[in-house]
Amino acid sequence: MALTITDECINCDVCEPECPNEAIYMGTAIYEIDPNKCTECVGHFDEPQCVQVCPVSCIPIHPEFVEAKETLWEKYRRLQQAQPPSPPSV
Ligand code: SF4
Ligand code: SF4
Repeated sequence: MALTITDECINCDVCEPECPNEAIYMGTAIYEIDPNKCTECVGHFDEPQCVQVCPVSCIPIHPEFVEAKETLWEKYRRLQQAQPPSPPSV
């Protein structure tokens, strides 16, 4: 599933840098999530990182992008191919 940000967002900026897929961006009024990039953090973390940090809990599942885990893995792999991972830090 992709997640979405509701109009309760207070533009606190904390979620955007936490997204491993760079799916979160500033929209016209509030932050938004690109459903084509959001894997619900599958492939990176056990829990959606944006949900973990959002102080007002305004990031529910996007009702139009309910996806099975395997679909999220496929999306993750597609994103990885488009964006090679950074070299490991030492
Ligand atoms: S759930 Fe993960 S991938 Fe999706 S927007 Fe939040 S931080 Fe990014
Ligand atoms: S963490 Fe929540 S309130 Fe803050 S910018 Fe992201 S969605 Fe908006």
